[in-house]
Amino acid sequence: MVVNDNSARSRRKFLKKAFASLAAGTAGVYGINRAYGNTGQAREQAQEEAETLNTWTKEDLLITKLETFKVKPRFLFLKIHTNQGITGLGEPITEGRADTCAEAVKEIGKYLIGKDPRRIIHHWQAIYRHSFYRGGPILTSALSGVEQALWDIKGKALGVPIYELLGGPTRDRIRVYAHARTPEAIRQAREEGYTAFKTGVLNSRQSGIVASPRFIDEAARNFADLRSAAGDDADIGIDFHGAISPQNAALLIRELEPMQPFFIEEPVNCQNVEVMAQLARETHLPIATGERIFTKWGFREILEKGAATILQPDICHAGGIFEGRLIAGMAEAYYAAVAPHNPLGPISLACGLQLAASIPNFLCQEQVTLGEGYLKEPFQVSDGHIPLPTGPGLGIELDEEALADKLGHDWRNPETYLDSDGSVVDW
Ligand SMILES: [Mg+2]
Repeated sequence: MVVNDNSARSRRKFLKKAFASLAAGTAGVYGINRAYGNTGQAREQAQEEAETLNTWTKEDLLITKLETFKVKPRFLFLKIHTNQGITGLGEPITEGRADTCAEAVKEIGKYLIGKDPRRIIHHWQAIYRHSFYRGGPILTSALSGVEQALWDIKGKALGVPIYELLGGPTRDRIRVYAHARTPEAIRQAREEGYTAFKTGVLNSRQSGIVASPRFIDEAARNFADLRSAAGDDADIGIDFHGAISPQNAALLIRELEPMQPFFIEEPVNCQNVEVMAQLARETHLPIATGERIFTKWGFREILEKGAATILQPDICHAGGIFEGRLIAGMAEAYYAAVAPHNPLGPISLACGLQLAASIPNFLCQEQVTLGEGYLKEPFQVSDGHIPLPTGPGLGIELDEEALADKLGHDWRNPETYLDSDGSVVDW
């Protein structure tokens, strides 16, 4: 559609004025009172940023560049630049495919450059649907990271955290869990303030198609040791990683039931949803899954078949922050909860926190780094929770100096084989 008449020009003038006052108003409320605290220097900085927002208009904000860089140990960061100096961050990666994802982002750039970054849903639809071949880990991870960066830009442009644009906070703080595979690791994490944990199945790669009684017994005893270390007021999820057979999963779940794990994650791979649904019907323990499921369309079958009651969309794979919000809405209708998956970097964590802050059915957020050595202000855990982020957009700023020695990596997925005969096994 071509619009080029007087009424369109008047409308543009109106939007220009309206946006300028909106930007000033929201930056006033959030930039000064929330995002920056009340110290003199912080207030001055916020005031300066609010004044900057007043100098550009709706038509002025355009995407100029998409920049990706690999960051150790296995991350891919994205920075989207605009003509107004506002930048947005994302993590557009499938683990082990950083170069492939970087190329996919580059191809998305051909569509995005020159466009207004604030039309997030519109761009999501265009990138997803115009690719014709939809979904999958590479395309959806690239799209997810781009979507995250667009939200970061939009939040910064309006001076508010992203969760404010998703309806406002649904909680006062956000529970997070730590990875811990040994009693010592659990005790240390408890000292650091964590109250929820996740572990794996002991020696799962060597379980075979039909596990021995010893394998099941040792795996269950290992979990019992962790339970003793954590205490019965803590929560411990156990990730089967989709790496053991359905019959072994059934045997192990039965042994774990008296110890009440937080959840059983990916008891089997999610490619045959009916098999996971059958395991879910056979136990009272919550089944969790989602890290290898993409978009609302992927999660539909999980919910419809009752395969899981805890959904774990990865905000870097499943389609981004707003797709996570839509998945959470679908889950709510099935009385299912959301525990965002995140074995990635601090941008991924920041995205999960924005989602957690804005949905009613949040359970717990996974993390492997709070951002030390990556962010100017890493997240802090206290009493098992991270406080609500208050900065605009994702509320984080990269520490470029600290990142300098972490640039570049060649991380590859592990190659795993059965010891007894050398055949390929899942990891
Ligand atoms: Mg997992």
